[in-house]
Amino acid sequence: MEATERFLQYIGIWTTSERDSGQEPSSLRQFDLAHQLVFELKEMGLERVEVDNHCLVYGFLPATPGLERAPCLGLLAHLDTYPDCSGYHVRPQILPDYDGGEVILGDSGLRLTVSDFPHLPSLAGQTLITSSGDTLLGADDKAGIAEILTALERVIAGGRPHGPVSVAFMPDEEIGIGTAHLDLKRLGAQYAFTVDGWEVGEIVTETFNAVLAEVETRGVNIHTGRAKGIMINAQLVALEFADMLPAEEIPARTEGYEGFYHLRKMSGTVEEARLWYNLRDFSREGIQKRMETMEEAAGELNRRYGPGTVRVRFREEYRNLNEVISRHPEMIEKACAACRKAGVEPKVTCTRGGSDGARVSFAGVPCPNLGVGGWAYHSPQEHITAEAIERVSRILEELIVLYGEAEDGT
Ligand SMILES: [Zn+2]
Repeated sequence: MEATERFLQYIGIWTTSERDSGQEPSSLRQFDLAHQLVFELKEMGLERVEVDNHCLVYGFLPATPGLERAPCLGLLAHLDTYPDCSGYHVRPQILPDYDGGEVILGDSGLRLTVSDFPHLPSLAGQTLITSSGDTLLGADDKAGIAEILTALERVIAGGRPHGPVSVAFMPDEEIGIGTAHLDLKRLGAQYAFTVDGWEVGEIVTETFNAVLAEVETRGVNIHTGRAKGIMINAQLVALEFADMLPAEEIPARTEGYEGFYHLRKMSGTVEEARLWYNLRDFSREGIQKRMETMEEAAGELNRRYGPGTVRVRFREEYRNLNEVISRHPEMIEKACAACRKAGVEPKVTCTRGGSDGARVSFAGVPCPNLGVGGWAYHSPQEHITAEAIERVSRILEELIVLYGEAEDGT
C-alpha cells in the first residue's frame, strides 16, 4: 500500500487525546487506530504484535538470515492528535498538481496564504493535502505512522536484507505522557528514532533543557486605610519579581538557540501570589544561570521585604537530548546517509521544545527525531504533500537497511 493511501486511511480514525480525562489512555478512541495497526503489522508478518492495556502497540520484524547480530533499530510514532483542535471527522482536501498559491479550506472561511506560509510556492506541482478547515489534518503524527509501516512493507516486499527492527506506537504524546508506559525492554531496541517532526530530512538532535519554576510570594494584609508602612501586597511583590527578569528573554523575543523565561501562569491575593515559569535553555550552564537569576531576584526582594517573602522552587522537566545523542554520532551519520540515499538533503537541527525521544534517550535508548514532512501542526491549517510522505518513507526504508549493515551496534 502506498504511504499516502495509508495516511489517508489513518486520518479518518478519530484519535484525539484528552487533557484531564483521568484515564490512561486519555481517550479510548485511540484504541481504534491501535487495533488497525495491530492488524496491519500482523498481515505484514511482524512478530510479537500486540496492543497493551495502555494502548501501546508493539511489533517486531526479525532480521533476515545472517543479520541477526545487527543492532535492533526502534522506530516510534504516536497515535493521538492534539487535544485543543478537533480531530473528529477529518475530511481531507487533496489537490494534485497544486499551483503553489492560496488554498481555501472547505467552507470554514479559513485559507492557506503565501504570506502566512511562505513555503507554499515551493510545493507547486506536488499533491497537497489539507483539512477542510474545521479540524486539524493529523499529519502529526499519522504521517509518521504511515511512513514507518510503508517502509517496513517495502523492506519486506523488496527482499532487502535488514537487521532486527522493533516498532512502537504510543498514545497521549500530545498531553505529554506518550512514553509514560513505553516498555523499553519489550521494545528491545538499542537505537531508536521517533518519527514525529517537521521537514523532510530533518534530524533533530537537540532539545531544550527544561525547568519548571514555581515562585511564591507572601504578603502582609491590613485595612487599606491604615496600611501605611505595614502592608506588603504579595501580588505587587510578584510583579516586581517578574520585572527583575531579563525582559528580552521571553518566547516572543527569542529564536534559534536562545533560551527564555516564560511566565506560564499567575494567581494571587494580597496575602499570597504565585508565578509559574517555564525556563528553557539549550545549555546546562544556561539553564543553571536562569535558576540563579531567579534565586538572586528572590534574595533581593527578601532583603527588601523581609526573609521568607519570596520562595522559588525548581523542578526539572526534561534535559537536552544532545547530552545523549552527542555520544552516538554514528546515529546521525546513518540518518544523514539514509536521507541522501533517498535523494533528500539532510538537515541536522534543534527543536525549541522537548521530545519523546529525549525521554527515551535518557531512559537508555538514544533516540533522535526525524521529520514527517508536514506543516502547521495542531491547527486547521495543517498540511503535507503526498511527495513528502513518500520521501520520508524512503528515508526510513534506507535507514532500516543501513542498520542491518552495522555490525557492532554502531
Ligand atoms: Zn507529534
